[in-house]
Amino acid sequence: MSVKIPRVFNIQRFSVHDGPGMRTAIFFKGCPLRCAWCHNPESQAFDPEVMVSLEGSEEVIGRRYSVTELVEEATAEVLYYDQSGGGVTLTGGEPTCQDADYLEQLAVALQMRGISVGIDTSGVGPADTFSRLAPHVDFFLYDLKFIDDPAHRFWTGASNALPLRNLELLASLESSIYLRLILLEGLNTDRDAIEATMTWLTERGIGVAGVNLLPYHRFGMDKYARLGRPAPAEFTTPTPETLTRIRRQVESRYPRVTIGG
Ligand code: SF4
Repeated sequence: MSVKIPRVFNIQRFSVHDGPGMRTAIFFKGCPLRCAWCHNPESQAFDPEVMVSLEGSEEVIGRRYSVTELVEEATAEVLYYDQSGGGVTLTGGEPTCQDADYLEQLAVALQMRGISVGIDTSGVGPADTFSRLAPHVDFFLYDLKFIDDPAHRFWTGASNALPLRNLELLASLESSIYLRLILLEGLNTDRDAIEATMTWLTERGIGVAGVNLLPYHRFGMDKYARLGRPAPAEFTTPTPETLTRIRRQVESRYPRVTIGG
């Protein structure tokens, strides 16, 4: 069976927001969701597209990288990983929607070189992909957007049934999971919404290594115009009071809570 080589739209070195330590974040192009607040709209289409750079020139976003090429890119920073406890994080887009054979080969190749592998996911990839990746991945950054399915459908364009099933699957495989909650004031920040999320997790006995609260921000919104797309909806960043209350609420069930990635 032939492996379908995915496209990558960015390789960010020395990232401190994509898991522990200093990491190389590899951004795969393509995502089945259409979150209304998406900060990386150039990540959504699987095909290449033209985006105007900050300098005003046209750039083609997305090129294919073989496993060998990505391993070479990743191993260039091994010293920094060792010193900081970092590694590589596969992100996007939605990395788990890329070819499962490719992803497994990449994770195994990095693992064999002693490089920590993290995956940043919204949980919308096939269950089989998660099962195959889990033994080769050190942690999953699991972005849960809305526990309420109608809200998830409305704001992301898809049901949360698959992400919730995959979250249960990873927990059953005893994967290390950092739950990431994107917080949009007035949409998913009220006490009941947070309580519903925590209850869903605890009722299923899902343990997480930590919870990252990610307040909405508007960084990256200029990219829509640079892609020739209409401006996205504007949401409200949670107030410090809201964040403090949510932090306390979450901490009552899961003590390791951080604000930000
Ligand atoms: S899951 Fe992430 S990449 Fe995909 S549309 Fe939502 S915010 Fe954008």
